Amino acid sequence: MGNRKVDPQTSSISAGNDPTRQQGALRAPLYESSTFVFRSAEEGRRYFEVVYGGAEPGPGEDIGYSYSRLDAPNLRVAEARLAAWEECDDALVFNSGTAAMATIFLRHLRPGDVMLYSTPIYGGTASLLRGLMGDMGVTAIAYGPEHTADDLERLLEGRKPAMVFVETPANPTNAVFDLEMLAGVAKRHGAVSVCDNTFLSPVWQRPVRHGIDLVAHSATKYLGGHSDLTAGAVMGPSELIQPLRKLRYQIGTTAQPWTAWLLTRSLETLQVRVERQTENATRIAAFLSDHPKVERVSHLSLLQPGDPGYDAYKRQAAGPGAMVTFDVAGGEEECFRFLDALQLIRHAVSLGGTESIVSQPWNASHSNIPPEERLALGIKPGTVRMSVGLEAAGDLIADLSAALDAA
Ligand SMILES: *Cc1c(COP(=O)(O)O)cnc(C)c1O
Repeated sequence: MGNRKVDPQTSSISAGNDPTRQQGALRAPLYESSTFVFRSAEEGRRYFEVVYGGAEPGPGEDIGYSYSRLDAPNLRVAEARLAAWEECDDALVFNSGTAAMATIFLRHLRPGDVMLYSTPIYGGTASLLRGLMGDMGVTAIAYGPEHTADDLERLLEGRKPAMVFVETPANPTNAVFDLEMLAGVAKRHGAVSVCDNTFLSPVWQRPVRHGIDLVAHSATKYLGGHSDLTAGAVMGPSELIQPLRKLRYQIGTTAQPWTAWLLTRSLETLQVRVERQTENATRIAAFLSDHPKVERVSHLSLLQPGDPGYDAYKRQAAGPGAMVTFDVAGGEEECFRFLDALQLIRHAVSLGGTESIVSQPWNASHSNIPPEERLALGIKPGTVRMSVGLEAAGDLIADLSAALDAA
């Protein structure tokens, strides 16, 4: 193929896999070994010069492996494919999305720093910012989808942010934030910009195309895609990934080989899964929009010109994704009857798997936010978040329809 750049879908099948280094095995085998044998004393010395000593590997130098907390063959295959998906130089796999976020925050935020983060946001990210990072003296300032670049400057009150963090579309409201505007604010202040791209996945959104520096994922969701692993991923340019790799050596947020092996397999089907899940979600969003027992439906397929977020959505995303949020008419009681009447669709947290899941953010992921704030964010007791899976759309609609009748 020479130097021709291939599509990420093609890289996801082949990148990082070298049969000549694995006894000819076509598929990258699982290396469940915590330690690796040095071929020479010199090789052992060089390894630790780079990993603990602060030396940089030379151009094209492969220091090999020593210990699975530091690096492992299955991680490298997964990382090559993750980097390809987000069109980045390099990637890192972590043992959860939260471990990925924590590693980014610990690397880029120092006592006394100010940072900006979007709301609503994944609850674990919020508690990490308000908890550990707050205890360390970091001031985290929340902004909403309605805020312009000028509004963000006003929120900063003359302070320079060290980081601009965004999760778009937001969980669970599907509010869209403008990546180019946020990347611009970060650049003006010399801050690092970070996008949590879990919801749309690189199939529909590649934040680095819009000026974002680092892309983070809960790989537990669409990247893993089968609700059978917990992992995180960070993708970006080498100069930002290499320092995060060194911090991962220190704090041990590294993924396990088996997790990386499963993730590698999952990345091969990412595009077909997400495309079909999105088709299903678009049909479900249309069905729910017409239903008398449903009050408000948010799915990016329903955005119309003039709606908040429409222009940014058209600029930065190639598809609407498979997360649908809606309010069951009435309130908590009706919502409970609806949830308990579902036969096929499971009531559980998490998202992005092959099976459809509904959750009730009011009592689960967002229950730690004060009620008035939840309501202001558009999260009501009757709000249901649905992660649409790969079941036949007709069966999902029949299940939703029967459960809404019972609500
Ligand atoms: C699940 C999730 C996380 C946290 O990831 P874990 O793998 O559960 O640690 C972060 N961001 C978003 C948007 C998520 O959905």
